[in-house]
Amino acid sequence: MTPFIFQSNIPRTVFGTGSLAQLERELDLLGAKRALVLSTPEQRTIAEDIAKRLGKRCAGVFDRAVMHVPIETARAARETAGRLDADCAVAVGGGSTTGLGKAIALESSLPILAIPTTYAGSEMTPIWGITEAGVKRTGRDARVLPRTVIYDPGLTSSLPTGLSVTSAINAIAHAAEGLYAQDANPIHSLLAEEGIRAIATGLPRVMAKPADLDARSDCLYGAWLCGVVLGAVGMSLHHKLCHTLGGSFNLPHAETHAVVLPHALSYNSAAVPEAMARIARALRAASAPSGVYDLAKTLGAPTALRDIGMPESGLDRVAELATTNAYWNPRPLESGAIRKLLQQAWEGRRPE
Ligand code: NAD
Repeated sequence: MTPFIFQSNIPRTVFGTGSLAQLERELDLLGAKRALVLSTPEQRTIAEDIAKRLGKRCAGVFDRAVMHVPIETARAARETAGRLDADCAVAVGGGSTTGLGKAIALESSLPILAIPTTYAGSEMTPIWGITEAGVKRTGRDARVLPRTVIYDPGLTSSLPTGLSVTSAINAIAHAAEGLYAQDANPIHSLLAEEGIRAIATGLPRVMAKPADLDARSDCLYGAWLCGVVLGAVGMSLHHKLCHTLGGSFNLPHAETHAVVLPHALSYNSAAVPEAMARIARALRAASAPSGVYDLAKTLGAPTALRDIGMPESGLDRVAELATTNAYWNPRPLESGAIRKLLQQAWEGRRPE
């Protein structure tokens, strides 16, 4: 067996339909008395519901979370938390809202209680990101890892089907790269395979009936596991390409993951046959790359970079940026082959 190091730092997790009702008990356990509720403007209603539920324990609602955490928004949220004397942040929403909570915690160590409503998985990771002058800085810091996470599948029923499928493939991407990570270990690999399996089982049922709570539970459970993997082991080419495409061309986060994953897996396929076999098995597909591609295509997710706003003229630059700083990947980074991968992703070709 390959030698490994295993370490776990999974936040307290409360999972189940109706578990939002445990919010006050969970705040008690954190010793929190004045919670600042965070959301996007689009999710103001659910933030207000939570504020109402908390009554006097709610310090206020800050509803300005947006994608990629602009530094100005982070500063405004930190200032609001300080002015309102908040002793905890309750982040209800997807990765953008959790990310805003992390930006506050990075400076203040304010405990975060996260209530995820997408499958992005940020709530399980100590990874933060803040965008300043168009450049997104990221880092790892234990202070930003939420203390408690409440997963209530009912809150994901309103996630539009388009975002449900791309967000779920975003989660699969964490598990897939986790299976071939340099620091992979048997426990996180089990979680990764089970996470992909749960999502592959739940997602077609979610798409057929978005309010199916059993199906939503399967997807959210899978997303939890995939998020744990993302927080624990290193990511490689796929995440680097998506970060570059998102950062340099402002492409939508989850959609970019959905389009690129089959091609990144195809690039790495021959280097890590065992990991690919596990992904294929979890998807019940003949191969990992075609299995992810077919899942996306069948469920109506975008499959081509050209359909999500990527100009073909930018592909050379992405290939260059994605190979400039060395990082570990199971197959060496070859600029010609990566440029070819990007072309195939741009055209939306089905990989073998
Ligand atoms: P998001 O948080 O940007 O949400 C997208 C939109 O969907 C928003 O308008 C949001 O309000 C809305 N929405 C979310 N849940 C909803 C629901 N249940 N019903 C209706 N509308 C809902 O999207 P995301 O994909 O979850 O997060 C993307 C961001 O998270 C990116 O910035 C990405 O870099 C970051 N991220 C970070 C990590 C990490 O570990 N740090 C991990 C994954 C993603």
